[in-house]
Amino acid sequence: MTPDPVPAKYEFCPGTVVGRRFSRRTLADVAQLLDQRYEIGPPLGAGGMSEVFEGYDRNLDRRVAVKFLKADVADPKARERFEHEARSAASFTHPNAVTVYDVGEAGTRPYIVMELVEGKNLADVLARAGPLPPREAVHIADQVLAALGAAHARGLVHRDVKPGNILVTPKGWVKLADFGIAKAVSDATGGLTMTGQVMGTPKYLAPEQAAGRATTPRSDLYSTGVVLYEMVAGAPPFEGDTPVAIALAHQQAPVPPLAERRPGLPAALVATVDRALEKDPARRFPSAEAMSTALSGGPTAPMTAPTAAPTGGPTEVMASTTPPRPPGRRRWVWAVLAALALVGAFMIAWALANRDDGTGPTIAADPTTSSTTTTTTTTTTPPTTTPPTTTTPEPQTIDELIALLAANPDAFGEKGEDLVGKLEEVQADGDPEDAANLIEEIDKWVAEGQLDPEIGSQAQQLLAPLASQSSDEDLPPGQEKKQEEGD
Ligand code: ADP
Ligand code: MG
Repeated sequence: MTPDPVPAKYEFCPGTVVGRRFSRRTLADVAQLLDQRYEIGPPLGAGGMSEVFEGYDRNLDRRVAVKFLKADVADPKARERFEHEARSAASFTHPNAVTVYDVGEAGTRPYIVMELVEGKNLADVLARAGPLPPREAVHIADQVLAALGAAHARGLVHRDVKPGNILVTPKGWVKLADFGIAKAVSDATGGLTMTGQVMGTPKYLAPEQAAGRATTPRSDLYSTGVVLYEMVAGAPPFEGDTPVAIALAHQQAPVPPLAERRPGLPAALVATVDRALEKDPARRFPSAEAMSTALSGGPTAPMTAPTAAPTGGPTEVMASTTPPRPPGRRRWVWAVLAALALVGAFMIAWALANRDDGTGPTIAADPTTSSTTTTTTTTTTPPTTTPPTTTTPEPQTIDELIALLAANPDAFGEKGEDLVGKLEEVQADGDPEDAANLIEEIDKWVAEGQLDPEIGSQAQQLLAPLASQSSDEDLPPGQEKKQEEGD
């Protein structure tokens, strides 16, 4: 097929002008034509495992960003897994998320083509501007949470929420980059990452991630809490001399009180950060929507909290017809309108939020935009607007199942929590015998009414391929031939 068009170090070759997009602007920077389609332009930045360049898609006549893994991935199976995850990320679009357009390989180096965001990443913004006014920080966090809420509702966990992945345009719109990419990179590099988080700083890692356990939607909420903390305090809660020290602090050290680091902050903001940074995921917010609502002072305080425009209300309309969530002053108008028009909805929402049962007061209706057509088509999770209940969509992988369960384990019976723990163990060890034992145990829990039968059967189906690698006698009757599509 196509010979490797990208030199090992992506050195640009001045003079080899390809195409018109860059020939007008940055002659010297133009170097390569990737996959006979993408012109590669100037670098936009680099992370621990990847480098990102501005690009131009000749086929669709639009500017793009192209991200290359730094590592060569020689194993075709690993590249396949990378593509699988990246395609799954491409099935998700949201006005506050960077859309993945395409994936491919430059020789043995996987790459991802995505929406180009003109602006700065939040890390650079903070480095230059220092702590932000609380109002601005809330606007940014609110938009991040909007994207996370929609992703979580589809069973997609980000796993790498950090300032470097929060892109802010000059007008204050926020786009969260790298949805699911941490998992893709982890799959491609065979664990060169920390439980799906791209190797880099653990400053934003949830304790369970730092401990090597599976990530869930609530891990994303923790990381968002860290980012929020840093936005207003000027530094994240934990900064150690070594990555290990920071990871340990997330697991064990009390969070330095935000109210002391920066006195005078709105009480709602401090309370939201405190709850987001709970070490125990069960004590954090049940959903991104709930966190967003708390951040703005709760559903009963729209006037004093301009960020309270509820998802599903006017914001949704705006989000689907204009750029992402509006950062401007007019948001309070929407909040007032929403309050008037949706009094009933608020009351229900308030009741739900206070039940704290995983069903936040607002459910994002996934206001996707069609302007960002993906060239990939695979969908791994069925679209849904329903948060975890006993009739949630079927997870396709053990990871997705863990994410679903962990969002609200008790909703699936008294053994819900145990199931999460055991699944994480099986996932970490990959031991066929453990998988077979768990299948048996699930039978028992279901029989004794301690576990929801539907989730039990889904778990068994997902465990079956691994369990079948142990000897058939180890499997409970009926499971021997239960082969699911491998992953
Ligand atoms: P990290 O996320 O660790 O910063 P990445 O390799 O993902 O590393 O990205 C490097 C930098 O490239 C980011 O910090 C950001 O500034 C820039 N970048 C990434 N994706 C995009 C994009 N879609 N549009 C514009 N800039 C981007
Ligand atoms: Mg990134």
